[in-house]
Amino acid sequence: MIERLREAIRDVHGFPKAGIVFKDISLILGDGELFRGAIDLFCETAGGEKIDKVAGIDARGFIFGAAVADRLGVGFVPVRKKGKLPWKCIEESYALEYGEAVVEIHEDAVKPGEKVLLVDDLLATGGTAEATVKLLELLGAEIVAISFLIELSFLNGRDKLPGEKVKAILNY
Ligand code: AMP
Repeated sequence: MIERLREAIRDVHGFPKAGIVFKDISLILGDGELFRGAIDLFCETAGGEKIDKVAGIDARGFIFGAAVADRLGVGFVPVRKKGKLPWKCIEESYALEYGEAVVEIHEDAVKPGEKVLLVDDLLATGGTAEATVKLLELLGAEIVAISFLIELSFLNGRDKLPGEKVKAILNY
């Protein structure tokens, strides 16, 4: 399954801007067997540990994270770009290649001590996941693992997630 997933990932050169090779997961999402296979592998990254909630990062992390949460029979928590969540939020800013971005989470999304599996489609420089970890830790979550479909290993994003169990289904 891992090789079938790898073959289905489409490299889009120059999106969203020059110099970036965007890993397009659309062909996985659009294929029932591949999508289910990806969710199976995401669930395995939990290593059989008890999970109370799955958190997913805006926006492709929602697609995988919500399906993983359903499969595990637990709730889902969206971590969103600033300005999208309606209730009281805590926020964290992080550096982008140019400028900065902000992620938010509802302040009552996770209770202290809850075990959270964090899910996103891709680990690049790690800034987004690092900011999300800070938010979850502020709420008192215990992060069981941080799971990605794709890791761009050459960008060393893991270095921003010290002490965390970082799992990737596919490495580049
Ligand atoms: P970073 O904070 O640099 O680790 O970037 C991770 C976030 O940006 C993830 O939510 C990804 O969806 C997105 N992202 C970054 N680089 C790429 C890429 N080459 N292809 C697809 N998505 C990417």
